[in-house]
Amino acid sequence: MAVPKSKVTRSRRGMRRSHDSLVAGNPNECANCGEMKRPHHVCPACGHYDSREVVAMVDEVELDEDAA
Ligand SMILES: [Zn+2]
Repeated sequence: MAVPKSKVTRSRRGMRRSHDSLVAGNPNECANCGEMKRPHHVCPACGHYDSREVVAMVDEVELDEDAA
């Protein structure tokens, strides 16, 4: 088993962890439906990108009871 050469002080541990925080995303409003979406990504709500539909959306997926 690897053994640490020396104790990492509270100060050094804190300095390392100072870069660990997560930053919030920067969502845009979809031009088609107004939902918030990630920039440069297809809208997950309506499937539009750059004001045109690129992913066909279905209202409800019919599930076959026998297959499940
Ligand atoms: Zn949309």
